[in-house]
Amino acid sequence: MHSKLTALFQKVYGRPPEIVTRAPGRIEFIGNHTDYNGGTVLGAAIDRGVWVGLARREDDRRQFYSELAGVVTTLPSGVLARQEGSSSWINYPLGVLAALPAFDLPAPEGFDYLAISDLPAGAGLSSSAAIELASALAFLTAVGSNPDRETVVKLGRHAENHFVGVPCGILDQGVSGFGQRDHLVFIDCRGPRFETVPLPRAAHFWVFNTHTKHALVDGLYASRHRECMEAARALGVGQLVEATMPKLERARAGLSDESYKRARHVIEEIARVDNARQALRRGDLSTTGRLLTASHRSSQVYFENSTPELDFLVDLLAGGLNVFGARLTGGGFGGAVMALTTPAFGGAQAAAVADAYAERFGKRPDILHAQTGPGAQVVMK
Ligand code: ADP
Ligand code: MG
Repeated sequence: MHSKLTALFQKVYGRPPEIVTRAPGRIEFIGNHTDYNGGTVLGAAIDRGVWVGLARREDDRRQFYSELAGVVTTLPSGVLARQEGSSSWINYPLGVLAALPAFDLPAPEGFDYLAISDLPAGAGLSSSAAIELASALAFLTAVGSNPDRETVVKLGRHAENHFVGVPCGILDQGVSGFGQRDHLVFIDCRGPRFETVPLPRAAHFWVFNTHTKHALVDGLYASRHRECMEAARALGVGQLVEATMPKLERARAGLSDESYKRARHVIEEIARVDNARQALRRGDLSTTGRLLTASHRSSQVYFENSTPELDFLVDLLAGGLNVFGARLTGGGFGGAVMALTTPAFGGAQAAAVADAYAERFGKRPDILHAQTGPGAQVVMK
């Protein structure tokens, strides 16, 4: 990817980049809808991501090019207006530039910028966080600043929340920023606090993206959020992370059926994250896999954010040959399923799963095979 980036940069701008950065996409490993309840989550930075090349200019022009858009867009350095239409992808790097003053960090004036990627965009792997973090590292390197990971993570999230306008939690940027090869990233969303957890090299990820999306997904997220907050209030806690199952059972009569089920999922999911962390410390992928599948069943029964498409994939994968466990990954109500597998799970087995899915639903899911990879990094300066 580095040489591809250099060649394309040369072709577009007639000179090589001075700075090259990259940041990975991520998979939500376990910890579903725990973030806004003050809980914990484990994520995997994968071995695919967004690469950014940058070279400073003498003038104050900022030129942006992405392989996805295929055209150079020029903006004077004072302009931080939201872009629309085919140049709306620029809102990600622009959002980072707009966030810098809030962190007392300087922005580079003029530059030539170029992004390439081996991470599908809009596939639930957080290409948005990857482009934000790769951009943040490139801009900060250009002004000679050497920020800590946490600042880069916060810059990316600030850009996404305040400039792009997506109210995402800390998972996407946190995992892209703190990822490490052969490790997962553990996030305690209160704080937030980041840690890495070793993952055996034999662990492989297979992601099946159904490209289905519930028509009412925004409203469904909002109602799940509200039901969690109602449950917390009824239990007399600030956030569900402070609640326990005995406490929930005692309060059950005073709760709506929905609030009980949502709270049960969140409380038990936080416990599963903890158990998965302990199992991984022992290198125990079998127990970890069972926890992944249990997480899916809880989404299915208690949080009710699964769909027949996702259930079909999990039923097919979990308990199958070479599979430790499988679950929906991301917000749910459509989207993707991920399986944790041994190295023996290969392309043929994945294709058989996709075939069975296509026979039932009339459309093949996209298949992506990944392992863990390094977090956001400066590759060249
Ligand atoms: P996800 O984060 O799940 O991939 P999002 O909708 O949050 O999906 O972000 C996808 C958007 O991020 C794309 O529509 C595009 O605007 C931007 N993006 C991602 N990768 C690139 C890239 N390589 N070049 C330009 N823009 C990108
Ligand atoms: Mg995103």
